Amino acid sequence: MRLPIYIPQLPGQKYSCHGCGSCCRDFTVQLTHADLQKLQEQGWKERLGQEYVVKFRGHSWLKQKDDGACVFLGDNGLCKVHAEFGLEAKPLACQFFPFMLSPNVRDTHIGISFACGSVMASKGAALESHRGDVRRMSELLPASAPMPVKLQDNLIASEAEVDMIETALDAWLSKKTISPSMRYQGLAWLITSLLQANLKNVRGEKLRQLLSTLTNAVEHELPLLDWPEPTPRAWKLLRQAVFTRIEDPKIGDLLKRGKVASVFGQWSRSRKWAAGKGITPQTLGFCSIDFDRFQSTTGVFANHIEGDLQIQKTPMHNASTHSLDAESSTAMLHQQDSAAMDNLLQRWIRATILGGRAWGSGLYGLSIDQGLGLILVNLLTALWLARFHAAGRGAQQASLMDLQVAVGRVDRTSGRAVWLATAGERLRVKWLSHSDSLRLLARALV
Ligand code: SF4
Repeated sequence: MRLPIYIPQLPGQKYSCHGCGSCCRDFTVQLTHADLQKLQEQGWKERLGQEYVVKFRGHSWLKQKDDGACVFLGDNGLCKVHAEFGLEAKPLACQFFPFMLSPNVRDTHIGISFACGSVMASKGAALESHRGDVRRMSELLPASAPMPVKLQDNLIASEAEVDMIETALDAWLSKKTISPSMRYQGLAWLITSLLQANLKNVRGEKLRQLLSTLTNAVEHELPLLDWPEPTPRAWKLLRQAVFTRIEDPKIGDLLKRGKVASVFGQWSRSRKWAAGKGITPQTLGFCSIDFDRFQSTTGVFANHIEGDLQIQKTPMHNASTHSLDAESSTAMLHQQDSAAMDNLLQRWIRATILGGRAWGSGLYGLSIDQGLGLILVNLLTALWLARFHAAGRGAQQASLMDLQVAVGRVDRTSGRAVWLATAGERLRVKWLSHSDSLRLLARALV
């Protein structure tokens, strides 16, 4: 029996493929047995005059060109398989992207990847309009045993409990009366509280009461808390988390360099990120800068002004009004960017939670508390990377473009990179939450 499809209610989120080809340049696609058979029947070896599959660590993958793009990406920026045989002729993973399916016991939640430029820019048709395609794709997957969602450790969450948590966090994220910095500091405090609580005795109605108390208290509680600077260890763990989310070598490079050189290169880059001194290792899409330059940037929402910015228009034109106009326009641009960045982060985190990518089958089978901890670390690494990207172009503060690069980069690995499912990553989240560093880092970064 097929599970019903659940598409989250996100009226501000749209998507249609605009054929930019960035997913074809960016991702390494693993092939299923059915994909291999389909491509073989289409006769691609003869058409391309070369092999299109590469074997790596016991799996088959689509071969990539020297620049990392898929072997099927044509000079016109379009997929040759799609152009020749249509959407359904493509490998499953290519058909699915940017949708991500997360089955649980009740339904299959539909998530979306912000590594897609159209999702990021919310460009295209309403998510609901893709229901038919998503249903068709879900039927191509082998039916798997329903995966129950765990609340904490091995405690199975009831459907009502999952709804309560989704609803409480979504209500906080969509709250219109709070500033962006309050929104993300509050989110860090809420998730840290869940990670620190022993939920064994807080089930059903008690959990509802706990969530309601926390979400009502957060605005009053935050100003009363101590806010020391995050410790050097907290920054170090965050930089390591950044490294694990941006390191995604191409199979062709790994094969060319060989196992020993690849492992050594990775180890050496990871040590440099952890040390946080000197010049940053080369990272695709980012300039190499001195780590100290990061310190000179301000928080992502540091210049946010509450309410609408009123620009006084005057018919007089003299030197002082010109400079006032220039200042006003800069402030206006900052304000517009700030609102757009808040909108992007809200859409991203809401779509992640409501789309089933924050725990369970959508996130390495993690329990709700562990999964939310990992998503919060994703958010912090995106804020860190946005500032890092801004520093690379000599700016003091991140703009919308910096944040888009950062979110796209972080979201492409979430739920996909196997190394984010390791015990080491879980320990990092645990240490950061139990030392209260998640909320301190959130404050320092926004
Ligand atoms: S990144 Fe998104 S818009 Fe671009 S080709 Fe891929 S699915 Fe289409």
